Amino acid sequence: MKSSFDIAVFEGDGIGPEIMRPTLALLDRVARRHQLALRFNEVSAGAAHYARTGEALPQASMDAARSADAVLLGAMGLPDVRYDDGTEISPQIDLRRELHLFAGVRPVTLAEHQRSPIRIEPGRRVDFVLIRESTEGLFWSLGRGEVSDEEARETLVITRKTSEKLFRFAFDLAARRKAEGRGAGRVTCVDKANVFRAFAFFRGIFDEEAAERPELVADHAYVDAMALRMIQTPWDLDVLVTENMFGDILSDLGAGLMGGLGLAPSADIGDRHAVFQPCHGSAPDIAGQGAANPHAMILSAAMMLEWLGHQHQVPAAVSAGDELRRAVEQTLSDQRRLTRDLGGDASTEEAGHAVAGLLEGVAA
Ligand code: ATP
Repeated sequence: MKSSFDIAVFEGDGIGPEIMRPTLALLDRVARRHQLALRFNEVSAGAAHYARTGEALPQASMDAARSADAVLLGAMGLPDVRYDDGTEISPQIDLRRELHLFAGVRPVTLAEHQRSPIRIEPGRRVDFVLIRESTEGLFWSLGRGEVSDEEARETLVITRKTSEKLFRFAFDLAARRKAEGRGAGRVTCVDKANVFRAFAFFRGIFDEEAAERPELVADHAYVDAMALRMIQTPWDLDVLVTENMFGDILSDLGAGLMGGLGLAPSADIGDRHAVFQPCHGSAPDIAGQGAANPHAMILSAAMMLEWLGHQHQVPAAVSAGDELRRAVEQTLSDQRRLTRDLGGDASTEEAGHAVAGLLEGVAA
């Protein structure tokens, strides 16, 4: 059975290196506890790299990502470093395209001590997953938009091939969550099929896939109505699947439900490759202060362990990921262990140490 994994590490820009440091230390620690070896290969890309070299994602870094078992990414992009057309440097989007990472997985969960801006009805538990298609939709247009003095156009693209894979992924995830007792086995297609033909096409492909999965429940919601449901009754949701741009927006809403971007992890997954990074950006406003919350990065690393475990049939990696996630959830019970964004005054390093201190306590 495979027990060592090669991880390509992109620290990236802004707070990226600050949140990556404690994450790698924790990964190392939890992996050893489960007799696993993680080999980290640090590679360059991002806005600062572009400013220095004129290249945002060097070929060598792309090759390292392609040959790794998984990719960990801090954050990329800086508001002051831009391409000539004014758009930001975002190699993470190129990685998604190049590695065909069609499924952007954004779990929205509220642990016992996690504070949410909304009132959770007693006895209810918020635990759902938003899947954002990550290679096409409106983002297909990146770098291809047409702008004149009078008019601007961007093109949204939905393909049958990617949509089929996306929906299959969503139904498989719902089936696994149902088997684990975490969900009702329901997949909701989130679209705007009442207005746009492209979304009627998207929904049609969803319905075809749903017909193949009679053991699961499939339903639909318009994106605007879903924004409301996420706030009013988030405990009723299980697996949501949507287009790239809608997913981009709803995932920040999900992060808000979880008490902020500092707690929102994500994964971009394809057939063979996967990139794990927090939902947040490089937070240049707090970079260099040692104040960034590392939790979203650590939770993304926990998702990486779980994915590696499922991908290679290594139960120890799944357990290691679960342990890391539960250690983060435990830290939330004590304000003194939390960073400023969560109302505490711990530094990034102290928040990482707090998670490390709890690792053994949460071991099964
Ligand atoms: P992007 O467009 O790249 O996703 P963004 O414009 O949404 O980035 P972020 O970099 O995510 O912006 O930052 C948004 C706000 O959230 C900023 O005020 C930032 O300081 C805060 N923030 C983001 N991540 C963290 C974190 N890990 N810890 C604390 N604050 C954070």
